[in-house]
Amino acid sequence: MITPVLPTYARAPLSFVEGSGPWLIDDKGERYLDLGAGIAVNVLGHANPRLVAALESQARRLWHTSNLYRIPNQEKLAQLLTENTFADTVFFTNSGTEAIECAVKMVRKHFSHNGKPEKVRIVTFEGAFHGRSAAGIAASGGEKMTKGFGPILEGFDKVPVGDEAALRAAIGPETAAILIEPIQGEGGIRMVDAAFLKLLRKLCDEHDLLLVFDEIQCGVARTGKLFAHEWAGVAPDVMTIAKGIGGGFPLGACLATEAAADGMVVGTHGSTYGGNPLGCAVGVAVMEAVLEDGFLEEVSRKAGAFRQKLEGLIAAHPDVYEGVRGEGLMLGLKCKAPNTDVVAAGYGAHLLVVPAADNVVRLLPPLNITDEEMAEAVARLDAAATAVEGKLKEATG
Ligand SMILES: *Cc1c(COP(=O)(O)O)cnc(C)c1O
Repeated sequence: MITPVLPTYARAPLSFVEGSGPWLIDDKGERYLDLGAGIAVNVLGHANPRLVAALESQARRLWHTSNLYRIPNQEKLAQLLTENTFADTVFFTNSGTEAIECAVKMVRKHFSHNGKPEKVRIVTFEGAFHGRSAAGIAASGGEKMTKGFGPILEGFDKVPVGDEAALRAAIGPETAAILIEPIQGEGGIRMVDAAFLKLLRKLCDEHDLLLVFDEIQCGVARTGKLFAHEWAGVAPDVMTIAKGIGGGFPLGACLATEAAADGMVVGTHGSTYGGNPLGCAVGVAVMEAVLEDGFLEEVSRKAGAFRQKLEGLIAAHPDVYEGVRGEGLMLGLKCKAPNTDVVAAGYGAHLLVVPAADNVVRLLPPLNITDEEMAEAVARLDAAATAVEGKLKEATG
């Protein structure tokens, strides 16, 4: 018999009822160290007092009015985002995949608005993840996500990351945009070279294409820059964000330059909830926190220290861990043992980590995690590795 909750998730048998900083407490009172942060969402940890205060104070005054009217928090958050990025304008959503929907519509509308309605196709990359909506699964490609959901939205051309020849071959007269995650998250914390991102910018300029960055996972201070593309010194025309921007409250956005957004006039797009007062109150509080002096530097400093400890861990457990990759506090431990075994052993050590493709486990802690908590995380990864080694030994007799 089907469960009351649609059974689309393979959930761990853990049920959390409370959180504080990087700690979660389950229904039995057990404490877990959370290095998944709700998949790169809880950038300031659980029950962060500043975010709680922002949400509570807004909740007491006004929850929702719709986009029929001006929303002060939404305007403030848009101001913060445009002042601190390449973008001139922002459309707010409730999730990442809706931000992708907006980006795809914006790209197509831009060219139709400018007398080039034939330009509708978008180049995407192998290993990408852009969400679960109709446009999101089409952009992600991958049989796992699209099988049985046809007809799949037309107009996406997939090439391998880093393959210049395939990329050039994929660009034709109907190409409108290139869409890429500067660091692939679900794909296994796979970095895209700065040189390749620069090449994308150059090709977009040469061929009159829009460059779209999906920073839903890597954005909002996670890598030690406000947005990951800043490391490469390459600005997009359009950018999707979500996850971190709401700090746990459902919020996403599609940011764009004025030129890229020129077709998105009154009536072309909308959302009932998108940019609602509650979400934007939290979004403003998140932005104000990550924009504080020294916040980003502290993320980078801690990431450096964490990585050094992780290198030691990998050296101590060569049958379990192979290497560490990523930027800032968006880290991937490439595993030698099955990553699902490592995740399960993590649960045993009361540590939460998140699997990704390419046999990687993701370490995506709250960005305000302390040095002591990172040391504790490494100790628990060490215990998890020892448990996996025990299991490996058993298997080989
Ligand atoms: C999580 C994610 C999405 C989808 O976001 P949802 O909020 O789950 O819809 C899209 N792109 C990337 C890179 C993501 O990490």
